[in-house]
Amino acid sequence: MARKIQAIRGMNDILPGQSSIWQYLENTVADVVKSYGYQQIRFPIVENTDLFKRGVGETTDIVEKEMYTFEDRNGESLTLRPEGTASCVRAADQAGLLFNQVQRLWYTGPMFRYERPQKGRYRQFHQIGVEAFGMASADVDAELIILSARLWKKLGLLEHVELQLNTIGLASEREAYKAALVEYLTEFKDQLDEDSQRRLESNPLRILDSKDKATQAVLNDAPSLEDFMGEETSAHFNRLQAILTANDVPFVINHRLVRGLDYYGKTVFEWVTEHLGSQATVCAGGRYDGLVEQLGGKATPGIGFAMGIERLVLLLETLELIPEAAKASTDVFIVSLGEEAEITSTVLAETLRSQLAGVTVLRHCGGGNFKNQMKKANNSGARLTLILGQEEVEQGICQVKDMQTGDQESCKIADIANCVNTKLQLN
Ligand code: ATP
Ligand code: MG
Repeated sequence: MARKIQAIRGMNDILPGQSSIWQYLENTVADVVKSYGYQQIRFPIVENTDLFKRGVGETTDIVEKEMYTFEDRNGESLTLRPEGTASCVRAADQAGLLFNQVQRLWYTGPMFRYERPQKGRYRQFHQIGVEAFGMASADVDAELIILSARLWKKLGLLEHVELQLNTIGLASEREAYKAALVEYLTEFKDQLDEDSQRRLESNPLRILDSKDKATQAVLNDAPSLEDFMGEETSAHFNRLQAILTANDVPFVINHRLVRGLDYYGKTVFEWVTEHLGSQATVCAGGRYDGLVEQLGGKATPGIGFAMGIERLVLLLETLELIPEAAKASTDVFIVSLGEEAEITSTVLAETLRSQLAGVTVLRHCGGGNFKNQMKKANNSGARLTLILGQEEVEQGICQVKDMQTGDQESCKIADIANCVNTKLQLN
């Protein structure tokens, strides 16, 4: 026998039992974002490597060590997208949708990062992202966060996630802070973890969210980001908080929250949960007013967030929050005996599908004896089984069996949709 080829490490198949949960989540998100007027945008999975180098930032973890980069046959450097914002900006700007316009966009799809696979962390994972362009004021920051809170509420997750909020200010404020932070930390360099020591030169802000205890202890007496924020930044941040409060969205201010991507400024936020171990962030985002220009477009403010679908599915499963109706199920199973009944049953099945929206009708295919077919009906979990033999066809009827009670009665084929509908409503 030939050796079986396995999937690539960290890249998962979403099997039938899981895909219905994914669809439930995706459909819920689609409904919520639509109610805020966000439109879907789709862009390729592969882009020029430079897009992410320039967009995400050369010294970020993503670009330094997580990208899937390869040369195509022409020697051009391409990268499997590690995130969606840079691609979204590239696509929208290329189509002339950004400058001097307002856009509310969302996307969904696979992202690729070469990370160590573990629960909630994969090499191919999926995000749903939401981005708003052309609006610089804090009410947009609030809109996006309120939108996400509405989504958690709809999914039953609101009480299981916490909103952490921070502002990292304007580029000039960050530069001044970075200088003060580096000056302070250099003195304690040998007490910092290895990553943080490296970041002291490459990306000092990221040291703030180091998970290392000794590093965090050193940070306790470090200069505070907050003290470097100017009037405009503070006013923006206060306005955001006021709108969130007016809309009953609770938040925690975390002055050490910085994001792993270079394009953020002013508002940053994360929704975190206690239920997923160290893969705690289910949704993260912030404002990126400089990104469009950085990627060669005309200056356009932007803000967005991305949520990790795998982590949200894990969370819904862990908390047993998947509604029965979201699980794949069969409503009606059709059993037929004899050649004529088989043909009639195909027509019957089509009639039910036409007339009863949302009802799942499964026909047993390939004939076989009654006992075997009924076994299949039982295993299908169907609520009703329709039984059709030669005798029934001749009389223009079919047997309808309630699989829970075992009750069986005959029903006119001409009236079958009505009959099935009534019985499905009853149980
Ligand atoms: P983390 O700190 O967990 O590595 P991140 O800051 O790299 O997250 P973002 O780039 O902000 O994550 O992506 C947004 C969301 O996408 C994360 O909050 C998470 O839910 C999800 N995500 C990111 N990387 C992965 C991954 N490798 N596997 C699964 N989900 C991921
Ligand atoms: Mg990461």
